[in-house]
Amino acid sequence: MERISWNQYFMAQSHLLALRSTCTRLSVGATIVRDKRMIAGGYNGSIAGGVHCSDEGCYVIDNHCVRTIHAEMNAIIQCAKFGVPTEGAEIYVTHFPCLQCCKAIIQSGIKTVYYAVNYKNHPYAIELFKQAGVAVEYVELVDMPLDVNSQEKREFVSEILEKVSTTDINEVELKSLYDIANRLFLQENKSSR
Ligand SMILES: [Zn+2]
Ligand SMILES: [Zn+2]
Repeated sequence: MERISWNQYFMAQSHLLALRSTCTRLSVGATIVRDKRMIAGGYNGSIAGGVHCSDEGCYVIDNHCVRTIHAEMNAIIQCAKFGVPTEGAEIYVTHFPCLQCCKAIIQSGIKTVYYAVNYKNHPYAIELFKQAGVAVEYVELVDMPLDVNSQEKREFVSEILEKVSTTDINEVELKSLYDIANRLFLQENKSSR
C-alpha cells in the first residue's frame, strides 16, 4: 500500500470527525494541526450534554441551525480549554468555513486553512483570510485508507468486468462500466502526493 500524504491523512481525520456530527443539516469536521501533529478536532454539534438535532430536530432561526457549535469553533475551543497554543497552526476542514469561523480561525493565529468542499464560500471570508495572510487551499479527499475491504472489492469488480467483457455487451456500455469502476475503486491514481 502506498504511503498516505499528510494532507490526505489530516483531511481524512476531518471527514471521520464529521461522521460524529449530530446536526442533520450538514456534517462538518475540523482538525487543527501543528508541526504535523493533530492537536485538536471538532465536529458540528450541540454543547456537551445538550439535546441533539438528530434526536429532536434542528432549532432553525433565519435558515440557520442555532443549536450547534461549528466544527472549527469546537476545535479552537478545545485548544482554549486545555491550554494548547494555536498560533501558527493549520486547520483541515471538510467544508469552507463560514464567516464567524473564518474570524475565529484568523484570531486564533491559524495560518493555513485546507478545505475539501466548497460551501457557500463567502466573499468577505475570502477577503479576510487574504488580508490576514491566512493561506487557503483546496484539498479534496481522494484516499479511503480505512476501507479494509478495498482490495477485495477491487478484485471482485475486476473479475466481474472481465466476465462481462466476454458477453455480447456493446463497447459503449462496457466502457461506461469500466469508467465507474475506475472512479470508485482506483481513486488513489489521481491523488497528489
Ligand atoms: Zn441542527
Ligand atoms: Zn462556521
